[in-house]
Amino acid sequence: MLYDILIIGGGPAGLAAAIYGLRANKSVLVIEKQNFGGQIIESKNVVNYPGFKEISGMELGSSMYEQAKELGMEEKYGEVLEIKKEASKFIVKTKKEEFYSQTVILATGSKTKMLDLENERNLIGKGISYCATCDGAFFKDGVVAVIGGGNTAIEDCLYLANLCQKVYLIHRRDTFRAEAKKVELLKTKKNVEFYLDSVVEKLIGKDSLEEIVIQNVKNNKKTTLKVDGLFVAIGRVANTTLVENLINLASDRTVEADDSTKTNIEGLFVAGDVRQKKIRQLTTATADGTIAAMMAINFLENN
Ligand SMILES: Cc1cc2nc3c(=O)[nH]c(=O)nc-3n(C[C@H](O)[C@H](O)[C@H](O)COP(=O)(O)OP(=O)(O)OC[C@H]3O[C@@H](n4cnc5c(N)ncnc54)[C@H](O)[C@@H]3O)c2cc1C
Repeated sequence: MLYDILIIGGGPAGLAAAIYGLRANKSVLVIEKQNFGGQIIESKNVVNYPGFKEISGMELGSSMYEQAKELGMEEKYGEVLEIKKEASKFIVKTKKEEFYSQTVILATGSKTKMLDLENERNLIGKGISYCATCDGAFFKDGVVAVIGGGNTAIEDCLYLANLCQKVYLIHRRDTFRAEAKKVELLKTKKNVEFYLDSVVEKLIGKDSLEEIVIQNVKNNKKTTLKVDGLFVAIGRVANTTLVENLINLASDRTVEADDSTKTNIEGLFVAGDVRQKKIRQLTTATADGTIAAMMAINFLENN
């Protein structure tokens, strides 16, 4: 089967693109490696997506998926490992299968950054987590630390403060990227202790995380904290390994493309957090998905 539009990634950008493609009567396949809905399903509460005063990320992601499904979206689970363009069609490969399409929309989003510390990989799932709303409950009444200074880190702390005995917030600066209101709220929580101007430099534990060593970057003082869990929230990096030899990437590893979502390869479009841009939100991801689908439809009609 030769699809009209093949979308890689079933997050808000990919699902918005699917909805627009399907409503234009195009055949659409979406390949997703993990969960339809994308990263927003990790969020307990979304309060800035127009039309919903308050909705859980899981509910929002699921309704985007259901809307595309009802319109006739075809779906496959699997990680796309390769995209090739041969003559006028694209060949998209997962580990087990290959698919053919006239156009491709890359909507692979982003993933959390790691600390790159020795022992980090060994301790993932054994005390180290990158998603407080997914794993927080495992640490009920325990002692945890959160690293980061953006909205995700502060939201993680607020969530964990209601669940855990003690929460340490470790941040490398003494100012926050997070919204001031959120930081103010966090400062009112009695079981949260701030370690500012500090970085984690060592993770201790064999079968599970036991202690972390943090260092103050101003006075070099080291402190060892006993923790049951550590939540890393230090930012995200675009999922572009798959296309690093195919399309132009910017220095931050996002795909170079302007608002038209066109890449340097004809018929290949890019939408959502994976595209080079300043603001990464649901509204900007779904806007990109819309544009990419319209561009793909236009391409199909003119080629
Ligand atoms: C905890 C949290 C809370 C947030 N809260 C808000 C909020 O309140 N408001 C707001 O506007 N935004 C929020 N965001 C940001 C918002 O979720 C993102 O901007 C949005 O999800 C980006 O959508 P996307 O489709 O571009 O990427 P993603 O949501 O990252 O979706 C990409 C999808 O592609 C899949 N994928 C990746 N690589 C491959 C591959 N090789 N093969 C197949 N599939 C692949 C991934 O599994 C994923 O499902 C939040 C993010 C997080 C993590």
